[in-house]
Amino acid sequence: MTSEQKTALAGFLDTAGDYLGDGYRRPRENYAFTDDTVGTGDTLEEVAAEICACRSCPLGAGRTNAVPGEGVKNPLVLVIGEGPGQDEDQTGRPFVGRAGQLLDKMLSAIGLNRQENCFIANVVKCRPPENRDPAPAEAEACRPFLNRQIACLRPRMILCVGKVASNLLLGNTEWVTIGSLRGRFFEYPAAPAVPLLATYHPSALLRNEDLKRPAWEDLKLLRSKLEELTST
Ligand code: SF4
Repeated sequence: MTSEQKTALAGFLDTAGDYLGDGYRRPRENYAFTDDTVGTGDTLEEVAAEICACRSCPLGAGRTNAVPGEGVKNPLVLVIGEGPGQDEDQTGRPFVGRAGQLLDKMLSAIGLNRQENCFIANVVKCRPPENRDPAPAEAEACRPFLNRQIACLRPRMILCVGKVASNLLLGNTEWVTIGSLRGRFFEYPAAPAVPLLATYHPSALLRNEDLKRPAWEDLKLLRSKLEELTST
């Protein structure tokens, strides 16, 4: 709700209160409401519209659809992958292919889903050709969108899936494996109060069954941290 909408609603409630009381019109308060957004002052919808019109990096030229992300506002968890694949490029929705279906199952195992308590996004919003990794320069060009989304969403936690997204988000110049990142919490500079956990990309789990056990350990760690954060 915007500050103007809140002020109008407060005025209406004041008037209704006068009417339901003794009919006496009391002096009005000077309300100082703020919009339901943080930091940049814009909304998730405005950011999504800008993403869909953006051609700031070379990825914009080859896309069918930009993929801003989907899910709920104020999510428990913001899931961030590296970028859209073919299915996502065709539909404009994140994580809808086989890997996305596995991601949904993984989240569901710990009581999370994009309909009720998660938001799913990517580091870059347009599909890299031939599903190559996004280049660091492309990730940097797109990063303001992700940061603005985080400011609007205000997630309790960030789950970063895959080596590419994790290294790009953490700003690592020398990329390291998920094996060396997992099991501990990081701070994403644009949201230092939001714990960030890195785990394997679901497509890696589709390729290698042996990674399912450590990924499950990561999800349990995520759930336990969430319970800690939401119990205070
Ligand atoms: S990937 Fe990001 S910066 Fe590049 S064109 Fe798409 S929305 Fe713009």
